[in-house]
Amino acid sequence: MTGRHYDFFADLLDGMDMGLCLFDADDRCLLWNNTFLKFFPEHDGHVHVGEPYEANLRRFYAARLDASELANIERYIRDGVLRHRTQSRAFVFDHRGRRLRVNALTDSDGNRVRIWQALVQEPAEAERSDAQRGFSIDLLDHIPDGAMVLDQNDLIIAANDEFRRLYGVRPSETVVGQPFAAVVRRAWAAAGRPDEQLEPGLLDNMRFAGSPFEIELPRDQWRRVIARRTSDGIGYFTHSDISLLKRQQADLLVAERRAWEGERRYRLLAENSTDVIAAISGDRTIRFMSPACSRILGWGPSEMLDRDVIDFLHPDEQPMFLAALCAGEGSGLGRSAAFVCRVRARHDDWVWMEASIGAVQETTLDGADIAFICSLRDARERVLAERALKRAHEELALIAGSDPLTGLANRRRFEAIFDEEWHRAGRERLGLCLAMVDIDRFKAVNDTFGHLAGDECLKRVAMVIKANLPPGAGLAARYGGEEFVLLLPNASGGQGQALCERIHNDLKREPWSAVAPGLDAVTVSIGLCIARAPQGASMAGLIRIADEALYRAKSSGRNCTEVQHAV
Ligand code: GH3
Ligand code: MG
Ligand code: MG
Repeated sequence: MTGRHYDFFADLLDGMDMGLCLFDADDRCLLWNNTFLKFFPEHDGHVHVGEPYEANLRRFYAARLDASELANIERYIRDGVLRHRTQSRAFVFDHRGRRLRVNALTDSDGNRVRIWQALVQEPAEAERSDAQRGFSIDLLDHIPDGAMVLDQNDLIIAANDEFRRLYGVRPSETVVGQPFAAVVRRAWAAAGRPDEQLEPGLLDNMRFAGSPFEIELPRDQWRRVIARRTSDGIGYFTHSDISLLKRQQADLLVAERRAWEGERRYRLLAENSTDVIAAISGDRTIRFMSPACSRILGWGPSEMLDRDVIDFLHPDEQPMFLAALCAGEGSGLGRSAAFVCRVRARHDDWVWMEASIGAVQETTLDGADIAFICSLRDARERVLAERALKRAHEELALIAGSDPLTGLANRRRFEAIFDEEWHRAGRERLGLCLAMVDIDRFKAVNDTFGHLAGDECLKRVAMVIKANLPPGAGLAARYGGEEFVLLLPNASGGQGQALCERIHNDLKREPWSAVAPGLDAVTVSIGLCIARAPQGASMAGLIRIADEALYRAKSSGRNCTEVQHAV
């Protein structure tokens, strides 16, 4: 057909309200009619003979695409040119409020003619017209998934109820004639996020059918879309709800990342730490051992792996370790307990270590569950220092509480212990004896034999008194000068008297002349206070009673014991 004939057709079609545009074999514009300009006013005043179809499309899309899609305009144009050359069947699209059906044909000269016809804009009508074009709408409603059908221009020509449900399309709204992207955008807008960008790949996926793709909707909703294009450009798409699957995938990803980060974290720390770091599973198996173990314990890290951690602990400390594990278990993350324990070294000796156990919930990359992280620090020096300090403390306490000459407790210590025993006796209603012992005529001993001999006598009297105390019970103290005091908790009067008698007798047997030639005897006088469940009397009262008894012993000739009961 010649150009003149097309002029004629163009006018004819104007009369039928149909648009016409003619292109040559190189896609350059040759001719158009008034209806074409009516349908596409964006070309009015711009389209010219010889204009490439590409420029024509650019104007069309520039007017049609919104800001978010303008970035993809080159691809739209490319695809449009391709479609222009290959299209052989009519398709429908909306433009500037009109529903237009377009078809194109190539004539014998290689010219391409496109003709547009305006359709009556009524959704139900349009959907029925789709049915007439070769597939049944009812069929879509028998598909359990969401289903939509797109024409060659990617405009929806049919959709089923499930599709509408999946994308939250309201009953009053129609989807026919719209691009699928508009449906997705409307879902975002309805959720108050109209600016949500569509995945740039979405439209590609739509066009190059075949590979399934995923679409995110508001409120963590996800749809999977599987597309199939027929040779005439019609696209059949099914849509399914994969929100749950996506959530599970996301959870899995988070768990994997946590496991990886957790493992990386403790490995990094562990491998650079001077402490021994062990990762232990819930059944107490050692899953990881840091290199420091060879320096401190002599074990290579692999030698300790896969063994029960308890095997490496001294039996005395095993219960403590197990208790620490139990305390950590189920207590949530991060709780830890620290204590000192002995750990078996390679050559069968024990190394004091300070252990700290933290409960964790990690899975290593090889799938092992880590329930505890245990750090062990060399505590040998600390334990030795602590022991030395303890000994020093004990010695100091002893020095502070004892009499340097005789080695007996001093008066201060006596008073503290008397106080304790006094209260205990009251609480438990026990008997108690208190004896005041005073050396007879000691001043004369000093005067005659000198102070050094006097000191030696004091020591020997102290020894005799101490030797007569019941083992593990009672207390003897130097009360002052040549006076001693004896405390017998939980003792009867008879026991108290027997003790005093033994002291008198033993002093008699003491070889006093060895202290100083001519010293024949050293004797003592004793005042014994016997108290029974002594709530009635005060501590000072008991001492006074013992003193009174001592005074009587002195008065009645010395070297004897006088007894007085406390009431
Ligand atoms: P009595 O039988 O009445 O108790 O006579 P006494 O001489 O023992 O009594 P007095 O209280 O008069 O004398 C106590 C003496 O004990 C005085 C003091 O020289 C002596 N004395 C006190 N403390 C020490 C001491 O630490 N070393 C020596 N060598 N003598 C001491
Ligand atoms: Mg005295
Ligand atoms: Mg005396």
